[in-house]
Amino acid sequence: MIAKIIDGVKISASIRAECKARVERLARQNVVPGLAVILIGSDPASTVYVRNKIRACAEVGIRSFRFDFSADTEPDAVIETIEELNQRADVHGILVQLPLPLHFSLSRILHTISVDKDVDGFHLYNVGGLVVGDTVFPPCTPYGVVKLLEYEGIPVEGRNVIVVGASNIVGKPMALMLMQRDATVCICHAKTRDLAQFTILADILVVAAGRPNLIIPQMVRTGAVVIDVGINRLPDGRLVGDVDFEGVREKASYITPVPGGVGPMTVTMLLSNTITSAERMAQSFARSRIKDLASTST
Ligand code: NAP
Repeated sequence: MIAKIIDGVKISASIRAECKARVERLARQNVVPGLAVILIGSDPASTVYVRNKIRACAEVGIRSFRFDFSADTEPDAVIETIEELNQRADVHGILVQLPLPLHFSLSRILHTISVDKDVDGFHLYNVGGLVVGDTVFPPCTPYGVVKLLEYEGIPVEGRNVIVVGASNIVGKPMALMLMQRDATVCICHAKTRDLAQFTILADILVVAAGRPNLIIPQMVRTGAVVIDVGINRLPDGRLVGDVDFEGVREKASYITPVPGGVGPMTVTMLLSNTITSAERMAQSFARSRIKDLASTST
């Protein structure tokens, strides 16, 4: 069996075209979605991610506002900026690029962002929403994986899903989102004993560990769907995922490549969440206008 390669670039382009159409609909209500992006320090990878996010915003018509702070900035200065952005009507999403410098409290920063503008989906309220199946904004990377499965018409209900990686931003929300879709889910992590005894059970295997070649063909059931979230830079400069792509491809039914699989979806879902936020705010503004009109005419 040779797996079908899930083309994240193509699926992402199709979702971005929908994003553009949604932005055009909002323009008819005089609303331009706005995303504030905060970068603290000058980590090269973070700088590239921020640049890519801002470029992607421009492509679909989202206005972006960039705030740069030096690595030695006092956390209170960033908190103050977030509080101002929480109040701004032209800002519908607020993103703080991670990781933060060591003297910052991650939870303090994330929990200052208004839940209604938390387009990364990292606020505790959003995380709690995942548990009860009532998210305000699904976190972008696992949301992107869900969209890839939807676009390929891969059913999730009743399937055995193994998620390798238990981080707060990928593994755990991924597991919760697929459980919410009635999959039977198991999460593995670095302390899991004999990883292969779990991965071999997977109808859908999602790998987000950050370890090149962690998943080899012997660990994969024939016909499994394999989603590789990992991004690893090898010493020779190549970018690879966590899965032995060439080997596993001969056993799986579907597989995502790295690059070109989950990666492009993450930024796309950030755009989608930002537009969703603008749509919600436009709707609630319209509802309050109608209420005002009704009360003045009686
Ligand atoms: P992370 O915070 O380092 O978490 C890695 C997780 O993998 C941890 O739960 C860890 O277990 C587990 N793990 C590590 N080694 C393992 C092993 N040998 N066997 C089983 N589990 C193992 O990383 P992350 O932020 O979740 O990111 C994971 C990977 O996805 C990275 O390569 C990252 O670059 C990539 N990523 C990609 C995107 C994208 O858009 N495609 C977005 C975000 C992240 P413990 O909890 O026990 O330590």
